Amino acid sequence: MSHATPAPAANFIRNLIDEHRAAGKWDGRVETRFPPEPNGYLHLGHAKSIFLNFGLARDYGGACHLRFDDTNPEKESQEYVDAIKESVKWLGFDWGPHLYFASDYFDTMYACAEYLIQAGLAYVDSLSADEMREYRGTLTEPGRDSPYRNRSVEENLDLFRRMKAGEFPDGAHVLRARIDMASPNLNLRDPAIYRIKHATHHNTGDKWCIYPMYTYAHPIEDAIEHITHSICTLEFEDQRPFYDWLLDKLAIGGFFSRPLPQQIEFARLNLTYVVLSKRKLIQLVEEKHVAGWDDPRMPTLVGARRRGYTPEGFRRFTDQIGVSKSDGWIDYSVFEACQRDALNDTALRRIAVLDPVKLIIDNYPEGQTEDCFAPNHPQQPELGKRAVPFSRELWIEREDFEETPPKGYFRLYPGNSVRLRYGYVVTCTGFERDADGTLTAVHCEYLPDTKSGTPGADAVKVKGNIHWVSAAHAYEAEVRLYDRLFRTAQPGQETGNFLDDLNADSVKVIRAQLEPALKDAAPEQSFQFERHGYFVADRVDSKPGAPVFNRTVTLKDSWTKAEKQA
Ligand code: ATP
Ligand code: MG
Repeated sequence: MSHATPAPAANFIRNLIDEHRAAGKWDGRVETRFPPEPNGYLHLGHAKSIFLNFGLARDYGGACHLRFDDTNPEKESQEYVDAIKESVKWLGFDWGPHLYFASDYFDTMYACAEYLIQAGLAYVDSLSADEMREYRGTLTEPGRDSPYRNRSVEENLDLFRRMKAGEFPDGAHVLRARIDMASPNLNLRDPAIYRIKHATHHNTGDKWCIYPMYTYAHPIEDAIEHITHSICTLEFEDQRPFYDWLLDKLAIGGFFSRPLPQQIEFARLNLTYVVLSKRKLIQLVEEKHVAGWDDPRMPTLVGARRRGYTPEGFRRFTDQIGVSKSDGWIDYSVFEACQRDALNDTALRRIAVLDPVKLIIDNYPEGQTEDCFAPNHPQQPELGKRAVPFSRELWIEREDFEETPPKGYFRLYPGNSVRLRYGYVVTCTGFERDADGTLTAVHCEYLPDTKSGTPGADAVKVKGNIHWVSAAHAYEAEVRLYDRLFRTAQPGQETGNFLDDLNADSVKVIRAQLEPALKDAAPEQSFQFERHGYFVADRVDSKPGAPVFNRTVTLKDSWTKAEKQA
């Protein structure tokens, strides 16, 4: 890990691990795994799980496995595998030699299934899916035994082998664990463990036409890899008895030794103003509501990276929200604040005029240029200062001039003086508008003895302080002003369709006037554009010497304010 990490806060999982270690369980070993299914790109929710699992392994001197849980052939692909690896690395984690694919264990899973049949703990059922649902019962009514439940071991084995050999169509039979159709826990009412699926798998090709169910495969994957703490989200809590039942039986069968892995559930991340379901993310991409998986508005990790969010910002966020047993919502502004804080520490300061209008200094000699000096980071003087060229014609922000100033407005208006940050004090002398009334230029005169950093510069007191770039030296570039992709906290909550809540103004593409130093920005380099926010040189569209910029986050949280007013 590259982050300088403060001591992690205690949480119920760390407490449990401390107890296990004190008792000598697993000889004190801590081995975790992050097990994505390669059926989509990772999202902000996955980051919570990544920091948790890899963080535990790091802090306890253990290992965290990256395991692709690729037991379902239909929606998985190599593209997703590659993107997932890249995102985990980007967040700063390394799985070392521990890269695994669940599909590499299909032979063992199959052998375990034959063992269960032989031990009378599994049977082939031939009910239709509808019938099976009917036999399962409900939360208040017990289930009923399938008429096939008492098939002999020989018949079960024969049918299962013929399922594997491809003799039956999809859905003709399933292999079920034989537990208890009257269990109050529906997950123990003879859960399906293998189904027939004639589909090509991204890793095993056409070798298999039966595939293990997730709830059967996952405990076996953990046991094969000698995982100690198998951490998953709360909705798997009711699956834990099956997890334990299965591994106990397979330990008796000699497949695995004790102590077996232990499943521990924690609350998933629910974040406002985004959607964190792969199905919805795929829909956003396929229906072209966004430009792709890495669109900077997407709550994917590839999108977050392009947006300019940083691994350090994710670290702060996951630290701050902690790990608990109860579900809740985290406001998106909490995530943004963590990203803003992380960027504040590292991003160099630069000047950018996003909505440019000319400021002409009528008493400054034409053709003359001089340097002003601006600090690269006001809180870190050791980062030095850079020269910013000053000349007769500058670009300033359109909103830094008002013909008739509202109350409390201290910037440019006829007769008023302001400081051009790092430069001179100027007094507004006039302005020009075109036939439509649009402001085209502001005129002023400068006070030669007021240059910042020179003796007596502060003798003239002004209330306003505005930024600028020299028109002759500016670098004009595309800047994308990104905002939240959804305009409501829980997209789709009211209408049932999350797409109804897309924010129509989630991106605005402008041409901005930037200080010349920004021309050399490297892709993925982040800056604070003074008074505006944090921006990053886009890693995809920037060309050498011609970067384009994405707004990562504004300096202040405008959404929370707007919500309070609403
Ligand atoms: P989906 O339900 O949208 O398909 P998933 O949770 O099934 O997503 P996986 O690829 O199976 O996606 O997830 C890999 C790991 O990431 C799992 O261990 C899961 O618990 C964890 N994870 C997924 N979403 C979240 C979330 N919102 N918060 C915390 N952990 C999550
Ligand atoms: Mg899943």
